[in-house]
Amino acid sequence: MKVAFTSDNIAGASESVLQAMMEASQGDAMPYGNDDMTAEVTAMLSTLFECDVAVFLVSTGTAANVLSISAMTPPWGSVLCHSESHLLKDESTAPEFYTGGARFVGIGGAHAKIDPVQLKKIVSQKVGDVHTAQPSALSISQVTEVGSVYSLEEIRAITKIAKEANLPVHMDGARFANALVALGCTPAQMTWQAGIDIVSFGATKNGVMAAEAIVVFNPELAQSLGFRRKRGGHLHSKMRLLSSQMKAYLTDDLWRHNATHANAMMALLQDGLKTIPSIKINTPAQANMLFCTFPEGMADSLLAEGFAFYGGRWEEGVVRLVTSFRTPKAGVEAFVNSARRYHDAKLGK
Ligand SMILES: *Cc1c(COP(=O)(O)O)cnc(C)c1O
Repeated sequence: MKVAFTSDNIAGASESVLQAMMEASQGDAMPYGNDDMTAEVTAMLSTLFECDVAVFLVSTGTAANVLSISAMTPPWGSVLCHSESHLLKDESTAPEFYTGGARFVGIGGAHAKIDPVQLKKIVSQKVGDVHTAQPSALSISQVTEVGSVYSLEEIRAITKIAKEANLPVHMDGARFANALVALGCTPAQMTWQAGIDIVSFGATKNGVMAAEAIVVFNPELAQSLGFRRKRGGHLHSKMRLLSSQMKAYLTDDLWRHNATHANAMMALLQDGLKTIPSIKINTPAQANMLFCTFPEGMADSLLAEGFAFYGGRWEEGVVRLVTSFRTPKAGVEAFVNSARRYHDAKLGK
């Protein structure tokens, strides 16, 4: 069996999600989110997060991120995020577009986690100086772009610095479920109890077709979001189709089951690759994504066999492997066996 580790968004959707969309498409429902199911999703997310939340469903993670950020910053603000962040590297100029031209500033830190020392330095730089973009918001990614996961202590340390500088904090949770399962904490602990004001609660990568929730804990920040979503062209008239996906995702813990499987498959994959001496783990995978370095020729050999993954985009030999809610165990085992065979044949036992 040849399995693809290209990304978690190459997998389709869980059956119950598609079933829910089919059911939601029957009969009539009020448009633009004025339907019962959308209200139900808000209630479900309030229960999940153990507080009253405002919810804005959109259909891409980029929209969730940039709309969230746009509610946090004036156009003369600077938004602090990691230099490897999706916001900076993978959302074209949507962040600038949606914020009316705010400045996005990359901050360093190992394993794509923001370094608190660097953050502390930058939040107070030239505050009040009319000539300089004013630090106005902070965004962190959980899971990070290299597959690491901030601990609760790390999140709190970072949000504390932001709060002291009066900056609201956004969490890019495109892989929220994978991070949560990895930490074994509650959604509340990983977000508002740790100083997060808005989370992009991802679902698409973990088993729905196309639905992400902007979940807002700070009511003040929610006020403009309805208008921003409409203005930005992301207010779906048949909102129930997004809501049905999110409802199915939250029902019977589908989101936890899916993420648990994806993480378990990554653990299996990582444990297997670790036993192959010529493979270097670059960032230990804590959730469902792994960056490692293969010896010369190994990636090409595996690709030629029919496995799929991204490589050639980073330093020599670096590949990215991502597992999903649907990654088969046998596929993981076959991949590890093929990598080991290559190692043994070319590099000796
Ligand atoms: C996938 C992803 C997103 C969302 O991307 P879309 O393609 O717009 O859905 C956001 N942040 C991170 C870290 C991601 O990996």
